[in-house]
Amino acid sequence: IINFNAGPAGLPLPALERARDELLDFQGSGMSVMEHSHRGREYEAVHEEAISLLTRLLGIPDTHQVLFLTGGASQQFAQVPMNFLSPGTSADYLMTGVWSEKAFDEAKYYGTPRVAVSTAQPDKRYTRVPRQDELRLDPNAAYVHLTSNNTLFGTQWHTFPDVGGVPLVADMSSDFLWKGIDVSRFGLIYAGAQKNLGPSGVTLVVADKAFIARGRKDIPKIFRYSTHAENNSLYNTPPTLAIYLVRNVLAWVESVGGLARLEEWNREKAALLYGAIDRHADFFRGPVERDSRSVMNVVFQLPSEALDAAFVADAKQQGMVGLKGHRTAGGIRVSMYNAVSVENVRTLVSFMDHFVKTRG
Ligand code: PLP
Repeated sequence: IINFNAGPAGLPLPALERARDELLDFQGSGMSVMEHSHRGREYEAVHEEAISLLTRLLGIPDTHQVLFLTGGASQQFAQVPMNFLSPGTSADYLMTGVWSEKAFDEAKYYGTPRVAVSTAQPDKRYTRVPRQDELRLDPNAAYVHLTSNNTLFGTQWHTFPDVGGVPLVADMSSDFLWKGIDVSRFGLIYAGAQKNLGPSGVTLVVADKAFIARGRKDIPKIFRYSTHAENNSLYNTPPTLAIYLVRNVLAWVESVGGLARLEEWNREKAALLYGAIDRHADFFRGPVERDSRSVMNVVFQLPSEALDAAFVADAKQQGMVGLKGHRTAGGIRVSMYNAVSVENVRTLVSFMDHFVKTRG
């Protein structure tokens, strides 16, 4: 099966095989890793290895800390303003899709979020990310929030904006770890793991230690980033099995050559698929403006809804699943996270060429 789901997504096979082999007997302990105490030696080694692998792969500087939280990216929509906003203070939101809108809505409970830019069209769809000169930033904002990749509309920031000295907070749920990034530019990065990183159930946060230390202290301890930072994500019982799987995925990333190699593969996959769309532009209509095209989620429509449905059904017969567009966007969506290989995309592209020939 070639899994093009938007998330939860496929995981690299070696990471799953390793989990299968160790499931009932973790390192000769006679128990599964999920049955070990989160304060025991066996689990602690997994936890530390996951953090150090990610630190190495991304070159995370000492100024920043990796946290493993729960509640998904959706909880981060609330937890960010809960920590950094208060009545009378504001934060700038760069609106590029439904996930930005959800993040913005949660901030209203704690302060006054501002829309610093929006690329919404009159029909409420988004087909691009903004240009730097469109941003109307407030230098007094508590932070600037953006969604680095818009899973649903298939747009992606390819250059992060300059937001002056204000901390930049990024929801990277659907493009974290597709290539290297300069972590030092961000006050806080968050991502639900279930696309490039692992299974659902764990949420990754990479945060500037000084920024999170300034977070509010009059909110429940469990929601303070500083609590989790001070306790190395072991304040409460973390999702140990999910973190173990993240460790396996990160070890796989390192084994194949790290983020430079993943970027190469991801760019090649995107070139192949957008190439097919452009080659048959009168049949596969991609609404996204060229400069904003996502390398992770590619959306397009066929000439009719009936053809969209036939495309999904025929592809499924050939072992390709997860191609139906999000219910609010319609059409086709191809998600090409790290577990999707260049070869998998070649298979899809041949299928597309054949589909046009026979049904176009
Ligand atoms: N942000 C983005 C960009 C997403 O793609 C998603 C889910 O697909 C979310 C947030 C919500 O994540 P979660 O389901 O982990 O709360």
